[in-house]
Amino acid sequence: MQADQPCTRNYQLFSDYHTHPQGHRAQSYTQALLQPWADSARRLGLKDLAFTDHDRYHAGIHLDEIDRLREQNPDLQIRAGIELDNDPVRSVAGRKWIERHWDKLDFVLGSVHFLDRADEMFDSVPDGAAQFEGRNIDAMYSDYFRRIRELIETGLVDCLAHLDLIKIHGHRPTAGFASLIDDTLEFIRRRNLAIELSTAGWRKPVNELYPADNIVGLAREKGIPFTTASDAHSHVQLGDNFPALARKMADLGIHQVCIFERHKRAELLLQL
Ligand SMILES: [Zn+2]
Ligand SMILES: [Zn+2]
Repeated sequence: MQADQPCTRNYQLFSDYHTHPQGHRAQSYTQALLQPWADSARRLGLKDLAFTDHDRYHAGIHLDEIDRLREQNPDLQIRAGIELDNDPVRSVAGRKWIERHWDKLDFVLGSVHFLDRADEMFDSVPDGAAQFEGRNIDAMYSDYFRRIRELIETGLVDCLAHLDLIKIHGHRPTAGFASLIDDTLEFIRRRNLAIELSTAGWRKPVNELYPADNIVGLAREKGIPFTTASDAHSHVQLGDNFPALARKMADLGIHQVCIFERHKRAELLLQL
């Protein structure tokens, strides 16, 4: 490469820690369901993959099938995980399932998808946007981050998913946001949790990384570690937009990514 050429080399991201083999419905884990995810990972150059289906579908998660998948794909790290929602109805059973299987799980994501309506996730697109109509957005942001803290206090979470999901439909607060974010990140730091960098936000109306750059910058200053995540609901979505995420991470000065094994975290340096 000539000296005056811009450097186009990019970090090679190697892990996707937010994936949904079940998609949007309860399905039993089988090799037929899971193997395409391993194939996609290999094709993309990903080495470390966490399955994190929603806790409401826990009945379909068979950890022995994950063990079989590991045996069939010894070149990949495959983590048994789950996404714990704050579903006021169904997550009660989900939490019990997580407690029962805690020692066999590698990784638990924590997510707030519900505000004051128990029957509809606020992040459903486009229907969930109606929950914001005519409402005080500042109050909704406060309520959302209060629920994040509540979820953390269950003690069942290793990493927070899409930390500023509340922005999904493009609603922005007017005041007091900085201290709300700072308090939330302090809460996360004190409990030694990670947060994810999720490309899913680029597929949503807000069209922005989760979380936003300023939140990522503040988290980095506090030493909070990051996972990389696509929130893929199909194996063809695995590692979605990772080249753009890699560029963003380089811009924001993030050179490490964390991985989990049996809830134990390790931080790895990204390679060019
Ligand atoms: Zn989610
Ligand atoms: Zn998800």
